[in-house]
Amino acid sequence: MATHVIPVDPFDLVIFGGTGDLAKRKILPGLFRRFVAGQMPEGARVIGAARGEFDDAGYRDFARDAIEKYAHGKIHDKGKINDFLNCLSYFRIDALGDGGWKDLAKIMRKDVVQAFYFSVGPRLFAPLAERLHKYKIAGPDARIVVEKPFGHDLESARALNAELAAYFKETQIYRIDHYLGKETVQNLMVVRFANILFEPLWNAQYVDHIQITVAETVGVGGRGAYYDKSGAMRDMVQNHLMQLLCLIAMEPPAHFDPDSVRDEKLKVIRALDPVEVEDIVRGQYRAGPDGPSYIEDAENPDSTTESYLAMKLHVSNWRWSGTPFYLRTGKRLRARKSEIAVVFKDPPHFIFGDQQEQRCNELIIHLQPNEGMDLRVTIKEPGPGGMRLMDVPLDMSFAETLGDEVDDIPDAYERLVMDVIRGDQTLFMRGDEVEAAWAWVDPIIKGWQDRGDQPKLYDAGSSGPEDALMLMHREGRRWREISE
Ligand code: NAP
Repeated sequence: MATHVIPVDPFDLVIFGGTGDLAKRKILPGLFRRFVAGQMPEGARVIGAARGEFDDAGYRDFARDAIEKYAHGKIHDKGKINDFLNCLSYFRIDALGDGGWKDLAKIMRKDVVQAFYFSVGPRLFAPLAERLHKYKIAGPDARIVVEKPFGHDLESARALNAELAAYFKETQIYRIDHYLGKETVQNLMVVRFANILFEPLWNAQYVDHIQITVAETVGVGGRGAYYDKSGAMRDMVQNHLMQLLCLIAMEPPAHFDPDSVRDEKLKVIRALDPVEVEDIVRGQYRAGPDGPSYIEDAENPDSTTESYLAMKLHVSNWRWSGTPFYLRTGKRLRARKSEIAVVFKDPPHFIFGDQQEQRCNELIIHLQPNEGMDLRVTIKEPGPGGMRLMDVPLDMSFAETLGDEVDDIPDAYERLVMDVIRGDQTLFMRGDEVEAAWAWVDPIIKGWQDRGDQPKLYDAGSSGPEDALMLMHREGRRWREISE
């Protein structure tokens, strides 16, 4: 299956934080893969910027290491790497100072797409925007790419939106949620809106419930201090899980364009009911045989921050009234697995005797580790042993369907960076979406603080706290297994 590549216009892309972890693991390897795919046009330039003492040659060495280590697929062609590295240069710039900015202004071209990737800590977002304006570096159509976290609560998100809006129009601001760049997440929209099959069933009449799981095996070691101020709600739910929820729950947009899609997502967030206290379980991992406890990782013996969260939500609108959405995410769990399960109701009348138990159609959307979808259907067990039924998946694993071509599925970041260059904001969060998500999250966090809520402890390597299982069991439902 040949992959279609549409070249983009020539561009200057400045990566602020070009020597950081994200640039090393995702942005530079992703750009290189686009270069190999033939998508980067003649004359495209990538400019790394940070305070470190690199020259162009040193930065190219840094990028070469990053590509050799992190670019996936069959692309380790030395010639190609050298060609790509020729597009790279480096500027020493302090986001909080004035050194280096005039030099950057001199080399930026006004007649190509200008993109500025803020791959730095959030306290630098506003100073960068201000300096791009002050030194007249960014033209009227320049784009800025803003990493997460976008604010810590509603107030800080509003303040950041206002600070960016002082220098850039909303159409120039690309707030990244890399979950939206995943192949399967986009496929979810195509499956829903390009087929007649699912949409008639996609509502409270036919869907029993929806489960969204983002489970990680890693703990917070290494970034414990940062994480401890954030927790699963701010780090995962407010952005990634809510974005997935929006794509599952939204109405079909009239057009597939950025604002039509984002208008529909926003309506979902605004339709979320406040969550009842008994519908949320917060957890924190204990020490296990192969790792320390959360409080050791966070170096905070008194920490009440959650490393796990499970919750039941209601989207109060005509489509979803009465259908619960269960969300869960956590660290140090049994397996690394992200998926969405749409669990359909039983047929209204069952004619195959006593074999109905535990049977239902499910559409499973796998986000990681292996992107793909499967639809579980009930069929007759083959053979003459009477009318026995069994459940089988109608499987659409990308790895199996596309074979070797699976290497060519772009990583979320490489797709999103190219969308920025193309000027397509569909897969980026709009300012009002981010604020609406915080407006829903803030009172929940405040409730925990006011009550002095203590997280439930769970064993590292388990499926999370027992109480989270009960969230489903008490209603006769069960979570899908967290396993590879
Ligand atoms: P990092 O490894 O700490 O890198 C930070 C980068 O910013 C470095 O290049 C650093 O270089 C530069 N920098 C720091 N202070 C600066 C200043 N005053 N002026 C100019 N440059 C400065 O951070 P990261 O992990 O790459 O994360 C970057 C952003 O992406 C953060 O907002 C993070 O939350 C977000 N993010 C990261 C990941 C990930 O996997 N790493 C995932 C999702 C989101 P110098 O110190 O030499 O200046």
